[in-house]
Amino acid sequence: MSRLVERVVHGLRVVIDRDQCVGFGDCVKDAPEGFKLDEDSIAAFVEPEAVERERLLRACDACPVDAITVWDETGRQIVPSRVGI
Ligand code: SF4
Repeated sequence: MSRLVERVVHGLRVVIDRDQCVGFGDCVKDAPEGFKLDEDSIAAFVEPEAVERERLLRACDACPVDAITVWDETGRQIVPSRVGI
């Protein structure tokens, strides 16, 4: 069974690969309204729509193992970016 979870937020598709997540919590630190660590110390969604778009993107991009990917309205992958930060 896939452990991908996703939400559409601000027109963006945000995907957490829970198999990839190692529980460092960088995403939670940057956007605690949006993400939490669950009882297994794996990232899960809280209320990502409560986080402004730019900060949400930063939080997603902060993941050291690229467990979070973000796709824009046109289907282009914009996180992880690795450029322009
Ligand atoms: S930053 Fe990445 S590895 Fe860390 S908790 Fe979030 S999704 Fe998991």
